[in-house]
Amino acid sequence: MGLLDEKRLVITGVLTDASLAFGVAELAQREGATVILTGAGRGLSLTERTARKLPQAAEVLELDVTVPEHLERVRTEVAARWERVDGVLHAIGFAPANCLGDDFMAPTWDDVAVAMNVSAYSLKALADAFVPLMTEGGSIVGLDFDATVAWPAYNWMGVAKAALESCSRYLARDLGSRRIRVNLVAAGPVKTMAAKSIPGFAQFEEQFETRAPLGWNVNDSSAVARAVVALLSDWFPMTTGEMVHVDGGYHAIGA
Ligand code: NAP
Repeated sequence: MGLLDEKRLVITGVLTDASLAFGVAELAQREGATVILTGAGRGLSLTERTARKLPQAAEVLELDVTVPEHLERVRTEVAARWERVDGVLHAIGFAPANCLGDDFMAPTWDDVAVAMNVSAYSLKALADAFVPLMTEGGSIVGLDFDATVAWPAYNWMGVAKAALESCSRYLARDLGSRRIRVNLVAAGPVKTMAAKSIPGFAQFEEQFETRAPLGWNVNDSSAVARAVVALLSDWFPMTTGEMVHVDGGYHAIGA
């Protein structure tokens, strides 16, 4: 028996086989889930190629989370295939280059608005799209980088992640009556396309490897996948509005 037998999951954010969402999709299938992936923009064909590396074939639907028509269409397309959705993974993050790096003051609101829209508001947008199909309750999980503190270089992406954290709590509040749980996994740094676009990512690597009580490997996202799969399963039935750290314990250590 798998942890996710009979679960139907929509998984965003699979770009390459290094994507955190790829690890989730792979493990979810091994645990019995049926999976649909979504991909965006120029990355869509890459998502299609990466999907072929999963243990089982997975369909890829187009979804740029900032395009309302895509959100409407993806709901219709999923509804045509499945009678219900049990779980959704939000693995979406983007900020214009000047939102990251040395200069916190550099971006204008237009730049910041893009980061907030793609990285934070998108959790609500995804919920809008799929909650109507989650007729038997279920689980929405998002991927976070702990935004309770300020980091080097992370800048406006950190502000967007703080908004994501808050958004997940409000969604948890409003979706509880439908038996839909909303939780985040705050992952330690892993080398993915998104991570490589953060100048100074190497600083995170060293810090986590040396300071996390359990250690940390920036090339291994399997612990993140396990936590997400657990939250998508029936094994956290009374957990919502939560942020689960999967960071080797780094967050608990002051210096
Ligand atoms: P990734 O492989 O680059 O995945 C990021 C995904 O976001 C891509 O599939 C990207 O698709 C998608 N995306 C960007 N804009 C989008 C839009 N408008 N609509 C729909 N999808 C969009 O990197 P990742 O590290 O696995 O990131 C997944 C999530 O984990 C992000 O939220 C990230 O902040 C979070 N996270 C990452 C780390 C880390 O160290 N890697 C740590 C903690 C949390 P396109 O490129 O095709 O647009």
